Amino acid sequence: MPAITVEDTLTLPRIAEPDPASTATRPVLSVTSAPSGFEGEGFPVRRAFAGVDRTLLDPFVHMDQMGEVEYAPGEAKGTGWHPHRGFETVTYMIDGTFRHRDSIGGGGLITNGDTQWMTAGSGILHIERPPEELVASGGLFHGIQLWVNLPKAEKMTAPRYQDIGAGKVALLSTADGGALVRLIAGDLAGVAGPGATHSPMTMVHATVSRGAKLVLPWRQDFNALVYVLAGRGSAGESGQPIHSGQLAVFGEGDTIRVDADLTQESRSPDLDVLVLGGRPIREPVFAYGPFVMNTKDEIAQAFEDFHAGRLGTIPTG
Ligand code: MN
Repeated sequence: MPAITVEDTLTLPRIAEPDPASTATRPVLSVTSAPSGFEGEGFPVRRAFAGVDRTLLDPFVHMDQMGEVEYAPGEAKGTGWHPHRGFETVTYMIDGTFRHRDSIGGGGLITNGDTQWMTAGSGILHIERPPEELVASGGLFHGIQLWVNLPKAEKMTAPRYQDIGAGKVALLSTADGGALVRLIAGDLAGVAGPGATHSPMTMVHATVSRGAKLVLPWRQDFNALVYVLAGRGSAGESGQPIHSGQLAVFGEGDTIRVDADLTQESRSPDLDVLVLGGRPIREPVFAYGPFVMNTKDEIAQAFEDFHAGRLGTIPTG
């Protein structure tokens, strides 16, 4: 799993292990398995949040693990032009390349470890595709797309596009050096990640060596979700088993704990997890298709505005 990596985690700043006497490890509320589906022109995804109560996900709305898939030459797929309103999309590419273009002139390539943060706000059109040369060659494709809600007061904010290059990700390690912690957005243990978010949140991709543990201090006012990208392990003090394609939802407390099993499959020697948390918005959510609003009427208005060209137009050339 390339993303961004280092030769030796022992050279990285360490996250001090929280004192168990004065901190509460968050309990595991549920573990769910992400069903498989298809997105866009037919690229395979796993719906990471399927079957989970929306109030436990808040401020997150939806997450797809894109791939992991090895495309044959000519097979790689993306999306056509489509609109969004009312939230932010975060695309994190672990392996492979996506080319983004949008109706506000944003765009670029995101590849191995890069993140793209798009605030749809009042409305945007965009397209995401592998570049032509990679469609021709085929190859490995693996990433995450996360939808982060916006509060009612910010749903109609101006659209914005941010590229977060892999080199900007803050790299940390755990107390014993057993895990590589990539801080993509938000704060963790007094370190600030590069992503600027409307809704306060933290996003981490951690690679936990077999037999090692990941203990992270976590803001009490944030929710806590761990999605397994690869490998096997356990979540919480209770050691609830988790494996690739599963989401663990944690309850209240101030630390998150995940352990990597000592034995892993040879194709993924480590446990790779995405750790997410944010401050719940606690407003009614009405999500339909590419829009995330507060009411059904606002969804109808979004469709009307889209068809009238008010969410933007496809750039020419
Ligand atoms: Mn989209």
